[in-house]
Amino acid sequence: MLRRKIVLFALLILPTLLAACTVTLPEVQDNRDTLFQASTLSSLNVGNFEGDVTMAELKRHGDFGLGTYNMLDGEMVVLDGEIYQMRDDGIASLADESTQTPFAAVTFFEADQSLSVNEPLDCTQLQAHLDHELPTLDAPYAIKVSGEFASLKVRAPHKQSPPYPTLADALVDQAIFESQNISGTMVGFRLPDYMAGANSAGYHFHFLRGDQQSGGHVLECQTSALTVEIDTIDEIRMDIMPGSIAQ
Ligand SMILES: [Zn+2]
Repeated sequence: MLRRKIVLFALLILPTLLAACTVTLPEVQDNRDTLFQASTLSSLNVGNFEGDVTMAELKRHGDFGLGTYNMLDGEMVVLDGEIYQMRDDGIASLADESTQTPFAAVTFFEADQSLSVNEPLDCTQLQAHLDHELPTLDAPYAIKVSGEFASLKVRAPHKQSPPYPTLADALVDQAIFESQNISGTMVGFRLPDYMAGANSAGYHFHFLRGDQQSGGHVLECQTSALTVEIDTIDEIRMDIMPGSIAQ
């Protein structure tokens, strides 16, 4: 009898408690300052070049970011909600919704801070300049750099096939593209040292030309007249690829 009463109590009270919990828990999807990652850079580094997150899924988590594609089939730029694929011919095209990624990072971009850069700086000098402008170097930031570049050097990897090499070995031979007086947008992040391994600590930029016809992973740049917009990130979510943790 006592047990029946306890069961009845549980049946009556538990749904009420659960309902109360459901109401008070915040909806994580509501936070637009979240960095969402498909897998980790460490996993990509050791040759896990096939993931299960589609472009359709990625768009649910952000409209701005970067990454790569399954089999390392090009560089990814996510800008204004569109996802571009730059293969080793350097040409950009819209990625198919069903295409999958082994590594990508996106957020919903809303600038908290904006500044102009009108002096000629190389990428290293630009990054040092931005380091002085950021509120703290302990927070992750999404960074959009748009305007005119005096010169730009980008790369795209060659598509790989199994058994996959490490990322470093795959990038020994890569396609390099150099341009002068080019307009477009560098899409990227500055992440703090504590995110090394999960992602790339420091600055990481991919470029999309203004006419959306070409781009790649930025190796070198020389600035001309640019606007830099900065969005502070306060939450990180990771979709861990099955099997990647065992590496
Ligand atoms: Zn890259």
